[in-house]
Amino acid sequence: MAEKKFRSVEEATSALVAYARERGLIGEDDITYVTNMLFDALKYQPTGAFIPKVGEARASEHTRKPTLESILSALLDYAVEHELIDGGIASRDLFDTRLMGCVTPRPSEVTREFWKRYDESPKAATDYLYRLALDSDYIRSYRIAKDRKWVTKTPYGKLDITINLSKPEKDPKAIAAALKKKSGDEPYPRCQLCPENVGYAGRLDHPARETIRLIPLTLAGEKWYLQYSPYVYYNEHCIVLSERHVPMKINTTTFVRLLEFIEKFPHYTVGSNADLPIVGGSILTHEHYQGGCYEFAMARADLREKISFAGFDDVEAGIVNWPMSVIRLDAADPARLVTLADKILTAWRRYSDESVGVLAVTDDTPHNTITPIARRRGEGFELDLVLRNNRTTDEYPLGIFHPHQELHHIKKENIGLIEVMGLAVLPARLLGEMNRLKQAILSGEDPSQVREIAAHGPWAHEILKKHPEYAPENVDSIGEAGRDELTAIIEEEIGLVFAQVLEQCAVFADTEDGRAAFGRFIESVR
Ligand SMILES: [Zn+2]
Repeated sequence: MAEKKFRSVEEATSALVAYARERGLIGEDDITYVTNMLFDALKYQPTGAFIPKVGEARASEHTRKPTLESILSALLDYAVEHELIDGGIASRDLFDTRLMGCVTPRPSEVTREFWKRYDESPKAATDYLYRLALDSDYIRSYRIAKDRKWVTKTPYGKLDITINLSKPEKDPKAIAAALKKKSGDEPYPRCQLCPENVGYAGRLDHPARETIRLIPLTLAGEKWYLQYSPYVYYNEHCIVLSERHVPMKINTTTFVRLLEFIEKFPHYTVGSNADLPIVGGSILTHEHYQGGCYEFAMARADLREKISFAGFDDVEAGIVNWPMSVIRLDAADPARLVTLADKILTAWRRYSDESVGVLAVTDDTPHNTITPIARRRGEGFELDLVLRNNRTTDEYPLGIFHPHQELHHIKKENIGLIEVMGLAVLPARLLGEMNRLKQAILSGEDPSQVREIAAHGPWAHEILKKHPEYAPENVDSIGEAGRDELTAIIEEEIGLVFAQVLEQCAVFADTEDGRAAFGRFIESVR
């Protein structure tokens, strides 16, 4: 074995079975069965003397229990050595998921256990499913641990920033193109959100999903599913998806489903990406929502202004103190929120105000939509409606209400639901660029003259103006503490750029004109 932690493939396999038994993924009666399945996947034929037993693996020479990562790494090396797979990361990911699929409980068992625990409490049920996602390595926690995360204080509260190192970036144009693809040339499964992914072995261009588990739900009378996101942008990041591969659509039923979901899972928040390109999420082709057990900065933001809607005295409404344009509705009865939200959505879909650049339709193409977010507030129900518009112009080819050119060096991707709620998911390239920027500043180089980070030049100059102690003429006097502090300064500045990104996505800017325009729209709903 390339990894010398195990003497043989038998020992590494037994260690995986022992792990699965210990985490409760398999029962005592499954040990031989699962061992044989793993040997089959590994194309390994033991001799007659071999007896599948968990105890042996535990009693092996390990002074410390091997981690799942080290067990899988040993088995993957074995598979590469024996030419079962090539050594590339995509093949390794496909193969170790196949191995973990052998020790993950069947979907029907998971569903049964989930609802059994739901009777105890909704939290007990989601705790179980999330734990399973971690233990089965569906969520590769050792990879997620590499993501960089920090919090930046802004006028809108503390925003969460993450540099995602476990998922590739997506190009907004490719996302839009995917929506236009004809159904004839669609692969199986049609997308990564289709329920047909459960148990799917994957391909180099599609992840293996032997370990994914979906819980069937009924929302607004239709079959939907709950699953976790393998990327865990925040705690218990879940996805709620339609049984059908149908495009994202924001309408009355969306509000009904979101509110029904938080009625069933009161400890979770859930929201939907908008249904138009540029202001929507990365997958517009399959109706889905995202939620989780996490308090986003947006949920902590209070109202900057109370408003009211005629005939809805039982709904408390206001404009949220948030960089984007958000109407918040609170009520004890979720049905009342649905009725009012629908009224606001209908009004917004056809609303234009040329003075602030909001045009509902150009050349028969609709531009207005909403990013809705639902959560519980005590016993009550709360719905945030974020007004969106995806129009582009020659000046703003990627979108008027989208990060503008001068901020693209930090973020140029779509501002979807998660960002709207105050959590920036920034591209992996930033980590290397920030390290290079730090190095440039500390050696007195002009960042604008360094090819890899030239795009950050104007921004870096602003940072140096705010922190003259890091200016080229002072670099010799920067001590150890100052070097460490520079990382924190750069991170804070990235956080402040994110707040600006969100401000640029506001259809009604937080200016006198913008506020007046927002007021006119509210007036139009009445
Ligand atoms: Zn799909």
